[in-house]
Amino acid sequence: MYNLVVIGAGITGVWSAFMKKDDVLLVEKEKSIGKNSLSSLWSIMPPLCGEFQDLCLASEKDYDDVCFNLGVFCKKTHILKLDDFTGKGKLIGKNEVRTFEPQLDVDKAEMFENGMFVEGSEFFTRMEDVLNVETGTEVLRINYDGNSIKSLETNKGEISAKYFIFSTGFLTKKMFHEDISLFKGHLIRTKKVGLNGILISRNRIAVEGRDLYLNGDSVNTEDPSVIYDELRETVSIISKFLRIDTSTLSVLTGFRTVSTNGKPLIKKVSSNAVLLTGYKFGFALAPYLAREGIKLLGA
Ligand SMILES: Cc1cc2nc3c(=O)[nH]c(=O)nc-3n(C[C@H](O)[C@H](O)[C@H](O)COP(=O)(O)OP(=O)(O)OC[C@H]3O[C@@H](n4cnc5c(N)ncnc54)[C@H](O)[C@@H]3O)c2cc1C
Repeated sequence: MYNLVVIGAGITGVWSAFMKKDDVLLVEKEKSIGKNSLSSLWSIMPPLCGEFQDLCLASEKDYDDVCFNLGVFCKKTHILKLDDFTGKGKLIGKNEVRTFEPQLDVDKAEMFENGMFVEGSEFFTRMEDVLNVETGTEVLRINYDGNSIKSLETNKGEISAKYFIFSTGFLTKKMFHEDISLFKGHLIRTKKVGLNGILISRNRIAVEGRDLYLNGDSVNTEDPSVIYDELRETVSIISKFLRIDTSTLSVLTGFRTVSTNGKPLIKKVSSNAVLLTGYKFGFALAPYLAREGIKLLGA
């Protein structure tokens, strides 16, 4: 019997297992961890976090530490908004823009200094090495004993633990009757162009790590198929600023799981289990959800 079993190895589950470390089992139904979270843009953009801006900033410290300790590529960087200015950043002119992004030809931009990018694929690969994970293991049923969870039935047998964290993300509704919505997005990957920071134009976003990544669309649907018009729109908006190689594009689709009030869902679902999900920037807030979930459980 484990002290803690974490169900779902997206970014929230990985952080939960990593923070607790000892006597923890992380179970994931897919053959590898992080599949849905791998379609994220892996960026932390505090100016877009609204009332959770401070939590997003605090997460940067958590990612920074893990990136350093596990050798994952991360960068703290600026965010340049190229239109729809908010007035909350610093408005800079053409020459100053050029000092941050030499190839960018725009008259002005709104700059924020506190963005962060994490190379997500490396993050999950390193985490898989250090965590106790059982992949290909789907939780099919929960066995209760009164108000507490006694064990989980999986396709590979029964698992018992003292405490449970459900970080089941976009599949949460299969297990719990939570009022959450799914928003599909596409991650476009193409050749690097020498971008230093995070660019935002008309809600479409570009950031560069090992490759150039583009995203920004968000459609309220549970259908996982690719929406080609959204891809065209993202490429067309970002192409106004960057010379994108469209001959080498690859695309991943994924879901954001969003609660009805848009706030993170940190909820006890039995006396010894919590459910963690619900925020549109789940990559950014995963360390916070994990920490609060463990605290709420007393695990
Ligand atoms: C295109 C795109 C770009 C994004 N960009 C950003 C960004 O830049 N910054 C940011 O902060 N957020 C971003 N997001 C949002 C972020 O990716 C999600 O909020 C995040 O992935 C949610 O992670 P999660 O671990 O909570 O859930 P999920 O990623 O949904 O993971 C849940 C996991 O649980 C597993 N699972 C479910 N049920 C079971 C079961 N019964 N048994 C075993 N395993 C189970 C699933 O297989 C899955 O691996 C983006 C999202 C998209 C789609």
